[in-house]
Amino acid sequence: MPELPEVETVRRVLDKDIVGLTITDIKIKYDNIIDYDIQEFKKNIIGKRIVSTERLGKFLIFNLNEGNLISHLRMEGKYFYLPRDTFDNKHVHVIYYFDNGYSLIYQDVRKFGRMTYRSNSELFTTKPLNEVGIDPILNKKIDIEKIYDKIISRSVAIKTTLLDQSIIAGLGNIYVDEVLFLSNIDPTRPSNSIKLDEVDRIVNSSISILSRAIEFKGTTIRSYTSSLGVEGQFQKFLNVHTKKECPHCKNALIRVKINGRTTYYCKNCQR
Ligand SMILES: [Zn+2]
Repeated sequence: MPELPEVETVRRVLDKDIVGLTITDIKIKYDNIIDYDIQEFKKNIIGKRIVSTERLGKFLIFNLNEGNLISHLRMEGKYFYLPRDTFDNKHVHVIYYFDNGYSLIYQDVRKFGRMTYRSNSELFTTKPLNEVGIDPILNKKIDIEKIYDKIISRSVAIKTTLLDQSIIAGLGNIYVDEVLFLSNIDPTRPSNSIKLDEVDRIVNSSISILSRAIEFKGTTIRSYTSSLGVEGQFQKFLNVHTKKECPHCKNALIRVKINGRTTYYCKNCQR
């Protein structure tokens, strides 16, 4: 599943390809991907020029000369930028055609990805972006106490709380395991047992891990490779996720399910 670094990698690659292009037409093969009235969606987007791209948490935003296209890749969504009519299959659900003869193809094997449209004034004030928490890469001044208050208001495992995008945005299953390892925190601990200095460690670990993962163009494990032929290399630097032995104390790592998500941690180093 693409997490913040993978989405940022997709954005950076797409940015070079599509900024400046005008969308001349859209083919929607599977309506449910579009979380908006289909006719209105087309009307709002066709004829518009892509002026820049942004990312918030795991959301991609294509800023148009009027309005914005928002895209969430969810489990398996991928983009391909190719000359028009050169690529299609049953997993291709949406195609944007440009004025230069190229197209942006959205492929999604699981069909969980979503796209929507928001005007400039409603972009960050309505769903889904108004529900996105602190983005550790974008936010320069992070209010640790505010995050602490949100974390300790919950009793579920700290891992589950960190997967909730409304507190810290962009952390998914892989990076939460890595962040909690770097913070020396047991992922099964109830959120309301977490101390203020531990929240500080969580935030700082998130910044350092996500920045480094972006530098290495994300992580390529199991089925997910980012679109456009970019293979992330951060899997080489994972400490615990998918690993067997703790890199610090050499004890065997624990592998458990927390709220259905496979979790790796060291019982000795993480308390
Ligand atoms: Zn250890």
